[in-house]
Amino acid sequence: MNTTMGGPFSVHSSLAAPIMEVFSSFQGEGRYAGEPQVFVRLRGCPLRCAWCDTPGSWALDGESGARIALAATAEEPAVIHRRPSSATPFQVACWIAEVERGAARTVSVTGGEPLMWPEFVRGLCGMVGDRRVHLETAGAHPRSLARVLDAVDHVSLDLKLPQDMGAVQNLAGPDFEASPATAEEWSSARRACLEMIAGRDACAKLIVSGARQAEDYEDLLCDLAQLAPKTPLFVQPVTPVAGVRAAPINLIRAVVEAALDLSLSVRVMPQMHRVLEIP
Ligand code: SF4
Repeated sequence: MNTTMGGPFSVHSSLAAPIMEVFSSFQGEGRYAGEPQVFVRLRGCPLRCAWCDTPGSWALDGESGARIALAATAEEPAVIHRRPSSATPFQVACWIAEVERGAARTVSVTGGEPLMWPEFVRGLCGMVGDRRVHLETAGAHPRSLARVLDAVDHVSLDLKLPQDMGAVQNLAGPDFEASPATAEEWSSARRACLEMIAGRDACAKLIVSGARQAEDYEDLLCDLAQLAPKTPLFVQPVTPVAGVRAAPINLIRAVVEAALDLSLSVRVMPQMHRVLEIP
């Protein structure tokens, strides 16, 4: 764990964020795929990826509050608690310990877009003891990423194709960083984020859908090769949801070949949690 945030009752303990769920499962994507982790899913996302599989996380408010899910074990049944959605880092750290049901695990902070809540993320990092904290982000908010970068232990950064993004939605909240809306703004945000994760414990994730050609991904791959060439790249065939077309294998092969031509370290990996049919 990082130690940059001081003790467990730092000033950030007063910062609340809307929590959708806290649960224990296996990481299904990226560099740490397969690792048992606790997931903290925050509410709120201004982006609209065509393939989003968690649209329930878009809104800041959730009528059902926070879902705190304890998985079944050989001795105990599954248990689900409902708690008020707005929670401080300290409260969430308590929920993390509750759902682990045993040995401490890495904490994956996901969403929604967790960088809507950088101060909460920083606060949580100071509350979870020796656990590693991983951040899963769309890579659209460099100012907020800079705010948490020295607090988290790993960043999983999406490389988003502007053509795959719907219109940005405005979230009414305190100091939310503006989201990229044009191809130029996406390029600027992506390049700024890549510069920040270069040389760190991080990975880049590229979701490939059947609606695109290999050439569409060229700029994203070139940015990665130029700005963070040692960062491992995970090519993820899209999980076909909401009418999104699956990526044919020839398209996946072409994207991988393009990455290899740029000397990138590339792996193809489907969403493992979808394959296993777990949360
Ligand atoms: S950034 Fe994540 S939560 Fe937001 S629309 Fe995209 S996939 Fe969904």
